[in-house]
Amino acid sequence: MSRVTVDALRKEYDAGSVVAVNDLDLEIEDGEFVTVVGPSGCGKTTTLRMLSGLEQPTSGRIEIGDEDVTDVHAKNRDVAMVFQNYALYPHKTVSENMEFGLRMSTDLSKDEREERVVETAEMMDIEDLLDDKPDELSGGQKQRVALGRAIVREPDLFLFDEPLSNLDAKLRTSMRAEIQRLQNELGITAVYVTHDQHEAMTMGDRIVILNGGKLQQQGNPTEVYENPVNKFVGGFIGSPSMNFIDVTVEPDGDQLHLTGPDGEFEFDLSAAYVSGNEDELESSRYTLGIRPENVSVTEKSTPNSITAAIDVVEPVGSDNFLHLDVSSEFIARVDSDIDLEPGDRVTITFDESDIHLFDAETGRNVFVRERNVPTIAS
Ligand code: ADP
Ligand code: MG
Repeated sequence: MSRVTVDALRKEYDAGSVVAVNDLDLEIEDGEFVTVVGPSGCGKTTTLRMLSGLEQPTSGRIEIGDEDVTDVHAKNRDVAMVFQNYALYPHKTVSENMEFGLRMSTDLSKDEREERVVETAEMMDIEDLLDDKPDELSGGQKQRVALGRAIVREPDLFLFDEPLSNLDAKLRTSMRAEIQRLQNELGITAVYVTHDQHEAMTMGDRIVILNGGKLQQQGNPTEVYENPVNKFVGGFIGSPSMNFIDVTVEPDGDQLHLTGPDGEFEFDLSAAYVSGNEDELESSRYTLGIRPENVSVTEKSTPNSITAAIDVVEPVGSDNFLHLDVSSEFIARVDSDIDLEPGDRVTITFDESDIHLFDAETGRNVFVRERNVPTIAS
């Protein structure tokens, strides 16, 4: 059983002047695939290195499979890590690379080790490469070998540190699917780190978002997308990013009057499927958040609309991204059938059920969205 518990895990560098990981708490279920995502420098690699035992925490605790491993040396943890740069031994063949880890971590006989290597190589479709040296391989092949080397050990825990970042887009997509398939088949608990929110959203059973060494939010991808706890998460998850408009707010019962540099808005809270902290609306400065995909073009100016000139039309096939000339960067994702050009004036609007409202000071999301999640009748 290899559930993982991370308790107030902290890593400081340079006598405490750098806090790479700031009191992180995580619970990972046995067999779960968790993605950890955040911008460069947010502490992803440091977290993985502490899980693997390559880095000693400043404070906090790590349990793997109900064993406290905080002070256990890396080589005595049953953890396999896959790195962005493959980290293969250049002078060893593929077969020797794969066998080496097994020799270090198990007491299998040479024959047993070779058998496991061949079995895994077949599963990974790299059996023809077993006698090659790493520099004879393409990037994609190297990463398959690095994966194979991790899998052959049958570890308690897989750690992936941006393993696909060096591959081209098409290969990345197929490797993503393959890693998910393998993890699912093997049922081994996995922590997969990436700076790419799309990768994190598509791969994880659960997504954990870090910023500045701190846990921001965790949940399944849909939850996090629908209910970002703060402005950082709202802006980080989703592409193109959520649009933000600075507003002042005047609550009036169930109505919310918002005034921003590009117009005034009025929302009926009871229609917006939101609950939560709206009673606490006190400071008057907020940031209105609206995702590009929730913006639509309308014929005429309606109460909650913005009219602006188009700066750029960015075609992405089925849709166009319209960059609007308003007070802040603002992108609308619209159907590519709508014929618009830079310089045209356009009126856009959005549904009150799609808005987010963030406290301008703390960034905290005031609302919790309660959508009627459709259920499939049995
Ligand atoms: P990520 O993998 O999310 O890009 P890292 O975990 O590598 O982030 O780094 C987190 C923070 O810790 C960064 O600010 C980085 O500069 C700092 N850091 C990482 N390793 C060291 C180190 N050995 N010495 C000093 N600072 C470090
Ligand atoms: Mg990193």
